[in-house]
Amino acid sequence: MTLEAFFDPKSVAVVGASRQKGKVGYEILTGLARGGYGGKIFPINPSAEEIEGYKCYPDLVSLGEVPDLVIIVLPAKAVPAVMQQCADLRVKAAIIITAGFREVGEEGRRLEESVLQIARAGGVRVVGPNCLGIMVPGKRLNASFGGDLPRAGQIGYISQSGALLTAILDTARAYGIGFSMLVSIGNKADVNELDVIRALGQHEETTVIAGYLESITDGDGFLREAERISQNKPILLIKSGGTGAGAKAASSHTGSLAGSETAYEVVFDRAGIIRCGSVKTQFDFAQAFANQPLPAGPSVAVITNAGGPGILAADAIERQGLTFAKLSDETVETLSSRLPAAANVHNPIDILGDALADLYEFALETALADPNVDAALVLLTPQAVTECAASAEAIIRVSRRVPGKPTLACFLGADKIAKAAGILRAGGIPQYDSPENAVTTLKVMNDYVRWRSRPKRVVKLFPVNRRKVEQIVERHLRRNMREIGEMESKEILEAYGFVTPKGSIATTAEQAANIAQQLGYPVVLKIWSPDILHKSDVGGVKVGLTTDQQVMDAFDLMMYRIPRKQPDADILGVLVQEMCSGGKEVILGMNRDERFGALLMFGMGGITVEVLKDVAFYLAPITAEEARQMLVRTRTYRILQGVRGEAGADLDAIAEGLQRLSQLVTEFPQIQEMDINPYIIGIEGTVPIAVDARISVEQG
Ligand code: ADP
Ligand code: MG
Repeated sequence: MTLEAFFDPKSVAVVGASRQKGKVGYEILTGLARGGYGGKIFPINPSAEEIEGYKCYPDLVSLGEVPDLVIIVLPAKAVPAVMQQCADLRVKAAIIITAGFREVGEEGRRLEESVLQIARAGGVRVVGPNCLGIMVPGKRLNASFGGDLPRAGQIGYISQSGALLTAILDTARAYGIGFSMLVSIGNKADVNELDVIRALGQHEETTVIAGYLESITDGDGFLREAERISQNKPILLIKSGGTGAGAKAASSHTGSLAGSETAYEVVFDRAGIIRCGSVKTQFDFAQAFANQPLPAGPSVAVITNAGGPGILAADAIERQGLTFAKLSDETVETLSSRLPAAANVHNPIDILGDALADLYEFALETALADPNVDAALVLLTPQAVTECAASAEAIIRVSRRVPGKPTLACFLGADKIAKAAGILRAGGIPQYDSPENAVTTLKVMNDYVRWRSRPKRVVKLFPVNRRKVEQIVERHLRRNMREIGEMESKEILEAYGFVTPKGSIATTAEQAANIAQQLGYPVVLKIWSPDILHKSDVGGVKVGLTTDQQVMDAFDLMMYRIPRKQPDADILGVLVQEMCSGGKEVILGMNRDERFGALLMFGMGGITVEVLKDVAFYLAPITAEEARQMLVRTRTYRILQGVRGEAGADLDAIAEGLQRLSQLVTEFPQIQEMDINPYIIGIEGTVPIAVDARISVEQG
């Protein structure tokens, strides 16, 4: 069912309308009228004849017609009865403004459930409870108590916090930002973020979707819809920190490194959602997306009347990984023909402190005409002769004459530029309070363009031995064993094409030396016990052993020390393993998120992983390209590429490892957490080795 009745109702009833100024029931009714709503308005209040000139009705039934939208502002306890009337009348849409439901505890939760049940049975869609309501400026519909309607515009806003929405409206007013729609979903008993985002995706007047979310109800649906909608409309979200409810005790490194927000980050990434740290940043981005075309590439030209801000902008461009446009010879020549001799005719184009509006117009138009320029940033400082307002108008004119390339402005100052800032924004030129913020916006626009043109996702499937893994997993589940030991973890990995080091278990020192000889030196000794999760922590790993004597000594030492350190551990022997030399240690891992599924992890491995925390996550199933992107996102990547003349590591091999891991955890949802740490990789062409592994399973 669509939510049309919420956004374009022909008639609205306000149940709980009040005559008393300051009451929500009064504010909503008068706000609706003041907003200029053109449909019928019915106040419902059994103890009033009329309110502010509107005839009052005792209840919904007495209206003699069915209103499209019912706004309920009665106390929580009275809501079920009203909802029953809505259901009986087949009302399509109801907004419950009232608080006092799920958010106040068990009793409220039950009340909310019963209201929802009545609504569902009667086919009534419900927004709220505990919400601010809905505003549709283009339809002059103010079904909220958020104050006056904002300007009509292209931004559709969804908020899980009503209070924040009032702050957003206020900020937007200062920015001169318009909205196509604002929806406060409150407790989202029925209509949730997914419904609204879907509706905004279809809403013609909405070109940019923005929102504030605290939680996401349906992870899978959200990812799918958001990914589809982002293809046409950018989605800018503020996501406040989770409660950590999803975080459970983790036995793997990956589990403990995946914070409660990791899944959101990963899902936003995959779905092309632009995450904003604050309302201000969100508007910085939104005003550009709503009013300017997307850049075709990363090259930015800067036009300024002051050297300092030009350098700040240049620094920011460099820092953000954008390109400082190299102007063509033709552009340089054209600029020289009119700019004063002291001006800089190269990027940043410095038109000097005494530049008037006409020079801004000329410089911007020339820069935008350059094929090497994808976007322009115009800086202005209000010097004695500067024509702030006229320059703003000139910029607007040029940007209209040259479509297809975004133009952003940063007029620095306060009082002196206030009027010009208003002119810029009204003319569709986003205005920023620092070059940095303008450049960040361009960067975000570029990222979005790149995301939109990403290659089609093709997940590679490797030939694997699925049966083998099935047997091991099933056996563990049957016996209620959560942890799969190192040996069988390695069998699982081998079944999925990973190579593990050779080795066997010794129970005496002599046997250990024998195995070492067969493997060939150097070797590694590791304590072998199902009860020891992190072997190095108890002195249970000894690397680089090169003689029989060393092996026997190491064996004896482990057998002497470890039982004293961990008396309850069942020690089965010592693993003698071939030593992988010369490679780099990385970690590949997976942690399963309740809502969004398997999160893959890559990072610098070995025993320091939790200290350095240099890791990147992505959602399985993963493509080759996405796997490569995971690598790039870590600092480890630079080390893997080879520093100071060192040969680089085989990056494709790591990416393949991630894809194999992705296939394993996708085909086995019973796997809850796993680490391959270390995964030792050599230079290109050598085979990476899964040296240590840990897998835990649960009934899926
Ligand atoms: P744990 O993680 O339980 O402490 P590991 O098997 O991962 O035990 O060993 C700890 C560290 O010892 C590894 O991170 C690696 O640096 C080194 N190491 C272990 N086995 C080998 C091996 N076969 N070749 C080279 N280095 C190894
Ligand atoms: Mg390890």
